[in-house]
Amino acid sequence: MPIGMPNKLDSYDVIVAGAGIGGLLSAAMLSKNGFSVIVFERLSFIGGRFTSFNFKGYEIPSGAVHMIPNSRGSFTKIMREFGIDYKKTDVWVEYIWDDHRRSCRNAAGIFNTLKSTSARLALAKVIFEFMQPQKDLGISFGEYLKSEIGNDDLYRFFEAFTNFSLSLSLEDISSKAMFGILRNILLQGLLLDNRVVPIGGCKGVIKGLKEVISAHNGKIVTNADVRKILVHKARADGVVVKVGGECMELTGRYIVSNLGPIKTYEKIDRGEYSGVLSELRWKKPPAGITISIAASKDMLGHSGITLTPIGERVCGMVQPTAIDPSLAPEGKHLLLTHQILKNQNIKNEIELGIADLHKIFPDFDEQCEILCTHSFHSDWPANYITQGEDLPNRTPIENLFMVGDGNKPPAHIMAEGVAHGAKQVVDAICASQHK
Ligand SMILES: Cc1cc2nc3c(=O)[nH]c(=O)nc-3n(C[C@H](O)[C@H](O)[C@H](O)COP(=O)(O)OP(=O)(O)OC[C@H]3O[C@@H](n4cnc5c(N)ncnc54)[C@H](O)[C@@H]3O)c2cc1C
Repeated sequence: MPIGMPNKLDSYDVIVAGAGIGGLLSAAMLSKNGFSVIVFERLSFIGGRFTSFNFKGYEIPSGAVHMIPNSRGSFTKIMREFGIDYKKTDVWVEYIWDDHRRSCRNAAGIFNTLKSTSARLALAKVIFEFMQPQKDLGISFGEYLKSEIGNDDLYRFFEAFTNFSLSLSLEDISSKAMFGILRNILLQGLLLDNRVVPIGGCKGVIKGLKEVISAHNGKIVTNADVRKILVHKARADGVVVKVGGECMELTGRYIVSNLGPIKTYEKIDRGEYSGVLSELRWKKPPAGITISIAASKDMLGHSGITLTPIGERVCGMVQPTAIDPSLAPEGKHLLLTHQILKNQNIKNEIELGIADLHKIFPDFDEQCEILCTHSFHSDWPANYITQGEDLPNRTPIENLFMVGDGNKPPAHIMAEGVAHGAKQVVDAICASQHK
């Protein structure tokens, strides 16, 4: 019997389906709060799209590029609480334009990253707009920029940001969702927020969470496929899981699903949710491509995020080894780029990304070697659901919660959004326990 495998009749306070960052953050916080917790993961490794694999001495991401978007958000608070080590970046964002490369150390300096006075004035107008009480213009952010702002440089400025952080084009994010995100970023930025890189990268966080879960007697079972979420009288009370070739039923007072909204509803064996499911299946998850590069010198000169409107496909990149050199062999750097998948010809999209790298770095061939390329789509997407269309963490089914990047609270992005949602789920479970 594999280590940590449950007995057939085991019962837990909380069953977590999926050991991505959403599932593990929830499991760590809940086990620390005294709940008996078991996590089931279908794959042979934990962390999902938030871990890495060592290849030739480089920590190649399974998804996240080793960067947490803010130092004042829920993610870093949880890391601090659990003693998981991280460091802040020295730069908030750098922009590489065709003839201009400028960075800022915090949100207050953002105007300096723009090329012209007209673009800066246009940005001031957008900021004024999103700081107003939220109104729904009913159009995409791209349409808003074109019809109400009309500044090409500012369009490219925001395009690089949404491509990189949301894996979306400006036409695919609503102005309402984008205003909320920008307001959140600006308010946090004014508090001297910055990015952070966990020591050991994403895998460092996963290792830390695993230790917290085991220290509080929680269990994590890998190669364990959750087949069904059991619901009786509109209340979730267990799962059917296949482990080691055998299906077993386990009961739990609360079920936390980290499987994404589609898979979660697929596992609920009830006709009444087929409508929700067909609506969800119709939506295509955002897709992207990452190129992992070995560099023999520091290519960026800072540890923050670089956005690249100069690129036709590559919209941004990070070099986490500027903070944690252990993510690459001694004396080398790991450079990670991102681009959205603009069409289904993945090979061609990668070639366009590589062409961008030659444009961005004239010495690319002398200094860099491409280690690998990864595309993120379908079952392993950039996000389970388009930003702004996330489903709430609470489901219509009592005691069934969802965590992950299809369930981020409004205005919260990337793994920070996943952590914010997980914290809300943990608070709700703790509160219902005390009722
Ligand atoms: C290329 C890329 C770069 C990114 N960069 C960053 C970044 O630098 N910073 C940042 O903050 N965010 C970043 N993100 C976003 C971040 O990685 C994701 O939001 C986050 O990892 C999603 O975690 P999750 O828990 O929602 O899902 P997942 O990681 O997908 O976890 C779900 C888990 O459930 C398991 N599972 C599925 N079905 C079953 C089943 N039937 N039974 C049991 N288990 C099952 C899966 O195997 C998986 O392990 C990036 C994403 C991508 C794709």
